[in-house]
Amino acid sequence: MVKVYVAIIAVLVFVGCGPDNNPNVKSSMYQSVNPQEATLLQSGKDKGSCGRCGMDLVMFYKTSHAAEHDGKHFQYCSIHCLEDHLGEGVTLKNPKVVDVDSLKFINVGDAHYVVGSKKRGTMTRVSKYAFSDESMAKKFQAMFGGEVMNFTKALEVAKEDFKH
Ligand SMILES: [Zn+2]
Repeated sequence: MVKVYVAIIAVLVFVGCGPDNNPNVKSSMYQSVNPQEATLLQSGKDKGSCGRCGMDLVMFYKTSHAAEHDGKHFQYCSIHCLEDHLGEGVTLKNPKVVDVDSLKFINVGDAHYVVGSKKRGTMTRVSKYAFSDESMAKKFQAMFGGEVMNFTKALEVAKEDFKH
């Protein structure tokens, strides 16, 4: 009889720990946001994908960059893919990056990048996260390490990934 009770309790415990009731959980990656938090600047059916590598822009939103070329909006999963586009010799207008804190796009000139922190990067081993507020960048750096730098320097580091 004791065995039967144990079996019943085991079943109840198992049911109690069943799958999450919310099937719409977002990816556990640091870069990911909920779709309603993301700003997608491209148009057309591929607006949710990186203009270079095709990766999902909501999944890699916190490292997303954007720019204009030939009157068209391009959005990238990362500064890596922006640099990949620049590598073709094009001039990209109005480059922007997502501010990790507000999740809004800001001009790259106003961004403080934390480069090489412990947080995983997108398309690179040396992660780069941008903040509009320098104190937020310093706070992030205090927690996860890395170096605070401007866009030009962060782009130089991104270029390193293309040298093999
Ligand atoms: Zn990409």
